[in-house]
Amino acid sequence: MRKIDLRSDTVTQPTERMRELMRQAPVGDDVYQEDPTVNKLEAEAAALVGKEAALFVSSGTMGNLLALMSHTQPGEEVILEADSHIYCYEVGGISRIAGLIPRPITGLGGIFTSKQLKQALRPENIHYPRTTLLCLENTHNRSGGQVLPQDQVVELAEAARNAGLKLHLDGARIFNAAVASNTPVQILTAPFDSVMFCLSKGLAAPVGSILAGSTNFIARARKFRKMLGGGMRQAGILAAAGLESLDVMTKRLAEDHRRAERLAEGLSAVPGLKVANPVHTNIVMLDITCPELTAACLVSAWAEAGIITAANSKYGMRLVTHYQITDEDVEYVIEATRTIIQQMS
Ligand SMILES: *Cc1c(COP(=O)(O)O)cnc(C)c1O
Repeated sequence: MRKIDLRSDTVTQPTERMRELMRQAPVGDDVYQEDPTVNKLEAEAAALVGKEAALFVSSGTMGNLLALMSHTQPGEEVILEADSHIYCYEVGGISRIAGLIPRPITGLGGIFTSKQLKQALRPENIHYPRTTLLCLENTHNRSGGQVLPQDQVVELAEAARNAGLKLHLDGARIFNAAVASNTPVQILTAPFDSVMFCLSKGLAAPVGSILAGSTNFIARARKFRKMLGGGMRQAGILAAAGLESLDVMTKRLAEDHRRAERLAEGLSAVPGLKVANPVHTNIVMLDITCPELTAACLVSAWAEAGIITAANSKYGMRLVTHYQITDEDVEYVIEATRTIIQQMS
């Protein structure tokens, strides 16, 4: 049976070319910084996002945690968006491991205003923690892969700098943002001291993320990575796939965006379904508008048609396109959904 997995771009399998490069990769002990393939990946990644240095890490979650730890001291306060991945989906590592107090601000489309930031900043007072870091997320996952308006990012970054804050970008899908806004990725990362991006999502590598920033920052992060047990040895096997992600997979994301748009268009024409947010990149947030039908019902009906999805609320679902989703898959999903909804209502 046909299998179309729309749960996430994390489900992507490594390409044949990646597997071949992994087999051939020269490797060494990366804790000694002697793995030539990891060193090459880190150098290329740093240059690509316009930073001095980079670190290959096991996951986006670890990259963000290392950034939090490396920019701050325990007990300090971090300002972030209330729907951000760091605040919602990273198991509270910001507090449990980094020892920080998060200060969530509710934004619109993943970003709040510089006015909101200024209101949140605390005056000097013996009772208050020190506020030292601002984190933003681009594309913004919970608002459906929306691209942050760069002029608003620049304005917010300036306000944060004036208040003496450091800035970290959770850019898990920053290449999707660059492609969708037709902006070089270095422009999107320029206002930030550090950026994390995932190789293992739309870029299709099997494992890994990159954390990039200044040489000193990366030296600190490297030490914390070791502390957390993330010092890997012959990691060049994995980095080889990451190099292919940078060289090849960053350049084809517009296809995923086009398919997400077509999927949104096709599904919003089905009675009882509504696309919740503007589709900027590879994520479609879908809502059911007829109360008799729940997301769980649709998810299980889809599963019988070989379409794998997940509900994220009673009436809401998230569908993600990626390089293993073809034009034919998208048309099949639209047709199958039409039939399913007809039978159910
Ligand atoms: C996926 C994701 C992460 C975490 O990446 P993992 O590799 O799954 O740990 C962080 N931030 C955002 C916005 C993400 O989408």
